[in-house]
Amino acid sequence: MTALIQELAGIVGAAHVLHEGDLSAWELDWRKRSRGKALAVVRPATTEQVAAVVRACAAAGTPIVPQGGNTGLVVGGTPDASGTQVVMSLQRMHAVRAIDTANLTLTVEAGCVLQSVQEAAREAGFLFPLSLAAEGSCTIGGNLATNAGGTQVLRYGNARDLCLGLEVVTAQGEIWNGLSGLRKDNTGYDLRDLFIGSEGTLGIITAATLKLYPQPAATLTAWAAVPSMEAAVRLLEIARTRLGAGLTGFEVMGQFALSLVVKHFTTLRVPFADASPYGVLLENAVQGDEQMAREGFESLLEIALEEGCATDAVIAENIAQARELWHVRESIPLAQAEEGLNIKHDISIPISRIPDYCTQTDARLAREIPGVRLVNFGHLGDGNLHYNVQAPEGGDARAFLRDQEDRVNTLVYEQVRAFDGSISAEHGVGGLKVDTLPDYKSPVALGLMRAVKQALDPGNLLNPGRVVRI
Ligand code: FAD
Ligand code: ZN
Repeated sequence: MTALIQELAGIVGAAHVLHEGDLSAWELDWRKRSRGKALAVVRPATTEQVAAVVRACAAAGTPIVPQGGNTGLVVGGTPDASGTQVVMSLQRMHAVRAIDTANLTLTVEAGCVLQSVQEAAREAGFLFPLSLAAEGSCTIGGNLATNAGGTQVLRYGNARDLCLGLEVVTAQGEIWNGLSGLRKDNTGYDLRDLFIGSEGTLGIITAATLKLYPQPAATLTAWAAVPSMEAAVRLLEIARTRLGAGLTGFEVMGQFALSLVVKHFTTLRVPFADASPYGVLLENAVQGDEQMAREGFESLLEIALEEGCATDAVIAENIAQARELWHVRESIPLAQAEEGLNIKHDISIPISRIPDYCTQTDARLAREIPGVRLVNFGHLGDGNLHYNVQAPEGGDARAFLRDQEDRVNTLVYEQVRAFDGSISAEHGVGGLKVDTLPDYKSPVALGLMRAVKQALDPGNLLNPGRVVRI
């Protein structure tokens, strides 16, 4: 046993320093595409323990990889293969520290699972709107470290917009308490926003003060069959105008994506599955009278049908039906995994340019890689598509990835650049895109990012080799 492991055991207790046996829960990434080797997995229970662990590792020159629920999709929360990095799991820090209903804030520790945060808010009579398919496993610390998005961004913003304050342990092992919960504070640089989205490379988030919202009185959900991406964008415009802030979700799903759900989850009913090129899921959170809202929602869909930007539409009659519709949307990634390995993208493009992006990129892909299948779906209301690429039917998916992944990525990302988009709208950079980012980010931006990293973590101890290389 190394001296460092002994020292860490002295800080958090020997039972919480794992360095033998099967550590794959912490070493293997969610998509099972990357397996690292940790020197040890350390599981502190308090902020003071986090700080003491950071100081011990810094003194030993040992890098730390912070980890929450290990649901990240860009190889950011697992160690490299060297066996020299300590994984710091925040999962034991899951307390709800405070609820302030007058200030509309909830303060929780970083390891709190997102679903538990939502439940704590609900029990207090409020809504915490961050919502994503990994919510039963991901932690709020991981959500903030990746600035997670999800299905309600259109109305409430991403994780950054939902956070008023942070508690962070710095690379030097100091504790910064920024949990004030102030909505206005212009006393210098915004340190909170620096740590949010930094993917564990600038500091370790130990707690957060989050915004609470009123629970909607009711939620209306509809599914529309849509003839084209142009039509989907037009439907979004109509929905925005008619519903204003009541529009909380607007998801688009390509026909092939939906056909995979039909194929692999036979019990799920997909509305108008073969009848139209795209399906759109709309959600309307109602604050006032439900009946009036339903009539407004119906008239919005009637306008869309008259204009031809929808060819058919259905409104969920009850919560169970609404859940079923969302279940279809959320089953797309799983259905795609059932179909075989695939190349994932989480791009964003200005909403107005998405139709042209899809037309051009679909055509280029079809031309350059014959038979390729597109699983296109995503948060159209945020200009964010999961523009995923699947091997040709019956082809060897593993060989396809080996031979074509770089080519597909280059093609998709060149198009993203041509349309002033981003190569990551949600999942982040991690280790997966760290060497791709310099091709798509300006040298000035990269230089500023490196300067920030070097100022905050001069020893390059926090998640080295992720986001930006030093
Ligand atoms: P981890 O995977 O453990 O870590 C992610 C990154 O954050 C790593 O770089 C890690 O070092 C860092 N980190 C973790 N905790 C801390 C901390 N306390 N302090 C500092 N750094 C930390 N993302 C979206 O944005 N929108 C979606 O809709 C969405 N859907 C998903 C659906 C599924 C089924 C899955 C598996 C993932 C999805 N994701 C989505 C990816 C998303 O990034 C993660 O689910 C989540 O935000 C990460 O939380 P985590 O606790 O699992 O973090
Ligand atoms: Zn998403």
